[in-house]
Amino acid sequence: MFCFQCQETAKNTGCTVKGVCGKPEETANLQDLLIFILRGISVYGEKLKEMGAGERSNDDFIAQGLFATITNANWDDARFTAMITEGLQRRDQVQHKFLAAYKEKNGSDFDAALPEAATWTADPSAFAEKARTIGVLATENEDVRSLRELLIIGLKGVAAYADHAALLGFQKDEINDFIMEALASTTKDLTVDEMVGLVMKAGETAVNTMALLDEANTTAYGNPEITEVNIGVGKNPGILITGHDLKDMEELLKQTEGTGVDVYTHGEMLPANCYPAFKKYDHFVGNYGGSWWHQNKEFESFNGPILLTTNCLVPLKKNNTYLDRLFTTGVVGYAGAAHIGDRPEGGTKDFSALIEKAKACPSPIEIETGTIVGGFAHNQVLALADKVVDAVKSGAIKRFVVMAGCDGRQKGRNYYTEVAENLPKDTVILTAGCAKYRYNKLNLGDIGGIPRVLDAGQCNDSYSLAVIALKLKEVFGLDDINDLPISYDIAWYEQKAVAVLLALLFLGVKGIRLGPTLPAFLSPTVVKVLVEKFDIKPIGTVEEDIAAMMAGK
Ligand code: SF4
Ligand code: SF4
Repeated sequence: MFCFQCQETAKNTGCTVKGVCGKPEETANLQDLLIFILRGISVYGEKLKEMGAGERSNDDFIAQGLFATITNANWDDARFTAMITEGLQRRDQVQHKFLAAYKEKNGSDFDAALPEAATWTADPSAFAEKARTIGVLATENEDVRSLRELLIIGLKGVAAYADHAALLGFQKDEINDFIMEALASTTKDLTVDEMVGLVMKAGETAVNTMALLDEANTTAYGNPEITEVNIGVGKNPGILITGHDLKDMEELLKQTEGTGVDVYTHGEMLPANCYPAFKKYDHFVGNYGGSWWHQNKEFESFNGPILLTTNCLVPLKKNNTYLDRLFTTGVVGYAGAAHIGDRPEGGTKDFSALIEKAKACPSPIEIETGTIVGGFAHNQVLALADKVVDAVKSGAIKRFVVMAGCDGRQKGRNYYTEVAENLPKDTVILTAGCAKYRYNKLNLGDIGGIPRVLDAGQCNDSYSLAVIALKLKEVFGLDDINDLPISYDIAWYEQKAVAVLLALLFLGVKGIRLGPTLPAFLSPTVVKVLVEKFDIKPIGTVEEDIAAMMAGK
C-alpha cells in the first residue's frame, strides 16, 4: 500500500505497511482500485459529453465512491469489493453507450487507444492482486504524481460536499462534469500548466459546491443562528449522532420525538444545534464531547447508540465495548457495526433499531457541563455587519484570524490552542470545522458583545467565511481580498480540508499558514509553485506567527 492523503501519514511521507489511521493494506489497495475504476467510467463519461451525449446516471456513484475513500469513512472491505464490482458494470454500460454513439456519429468503430482504467476487468478474486499495481506510486514522476494526487484528493472533498447537497435535492451538472473531467485527466499525459489549471478549477468547483451545499442546508433547515449549545447531559437515554449529514439529523430527530430517547451531537455535527429546524425539538439536548479523535473514550462513556453519518470513524480499541452500539449509514462502513440502509425513493431511513437499542441503554455519563456558542454562519454574521464594521473602524477589532479546518491527534496541534490563547484581545477568531475544538471551550471573551470566536459551522461552512470576507471587502471598498485585516492560520487533516484550501486559493487568498505540517503529497516543486503563486507557508512558533499575523504578514 501507499497512502499519503491525510496529515497523519507516516513520517509525513506515506503509510506503507498499515495506515497511521489504522487502515489495513487490503482496504487501502481496494480504495485505490475503486478510484482506478472511477477513472475508467469518467474516461467514457467525458467522451460522451464531448459528443454532446451527456451521461448523468453515474454522477452519484462516482461522488459516493470518492467520498467512501476519504480518511476514516469506510473500513469495510466487503463494501469496497461491492462498489468495485458495481463500478465495472457501470463502466461497461457507459462504454457500450459511447461506442454506439461514436459509430452512429462517425460511421466507423472507435479504434483509438484507451487507458487501462477504461479496459481492465476481472472478477473479485483478482481485485487484490490488481489493486497492488495501480496505486499512487504507479505514477513514477514525482511532480506529475503530486499534481494528480492533489487533484484527486481535493476532488474527494468536493465529492463529499456534492453528495450532501444531492441528498437534499441540489445538484449541478457542471460540478459532476468537472469531477469526471478531473478523474479522466489523471489517465492522460498533460503538461504541468494543464495540471495546475485543473487544480485551480478544482478550487473553483469547491467554491461552487460549498455554495450549493450552503443553499441546500439553509433552504431545508433555515439559516444557523446564534445558539448557546448545552454540553452537559440529561437523564434520558440518548443517541449520539456525528458526521456531517443534516438529512440524517432531520430524520433521526423526527423519529425519536416522543420516544423518551434524547439526541446529542458529536464532533462535526455540533453545528446542527444552531439550525432553526432542529433547535425546535425539546429532546435535542446538545453536544457531547469533543472532536473526532476523542471518540474511543467518549463513545464509551456516552452509553447509548452512536450513528456515524460520515467520517470520521476511528477503529475501536481492544478495550472498547461499543461495537454493538455503533451504527453506520451512507458511505460509512465498519465490519461488525450495523449499517442503516439508504432511504427508499421518496421515503426516509429507518432508525428504529437505534431507538430500540437506546431504550435498553443507560443515560450518558456527564463529562462536562456548561455551554458553547455557535451559529455564526454568513447570514448571522452579516446581520451583525454594522456592529462588526464599526468595531473595525473604531479599532476595537484589529484583526480577524481564520483558524478553520481540522483537529487531529498530533501533539503539534496544541499550537492552535496556544495561538487562540495568546492572540491579542482585540482579535477575533473565525472558525469552521473540527479545528474549533482546540479553543471553543476556552473563555476568550467578547469585543463589545461580539464573541472572540465566531464559529461558522462544519468544514463545508468555510464557505461562510469566504462570504463574510467578500462582504467586508465590499463594505471597505477594497479591490483585493488580501487588503482586509484577515490572516489565515489553517489546520488540515483530511481531504475535505484540501478542497477548502483549494477554494481559498481560487478566491485569491494569499499568505495562508498551513499546519501542523505541509501535505506529504506536495512534491518540493509543487510546494515551490504554491509558495511563489500564493505565499503559502508552514506554521512556525506561536510567538513568531502571532507577531507576523498582527503585522499583516
Ligand atoms: S488516510 Fe492517512 S493515516 Fe490513513 S493510510 Fe492514508 S495517509 Fe495513512
Ligand atoms: S474539519 Fe477536517 S477532519 Fe473535521 S470533518 Fe472536516 S475535513 Fe474532516
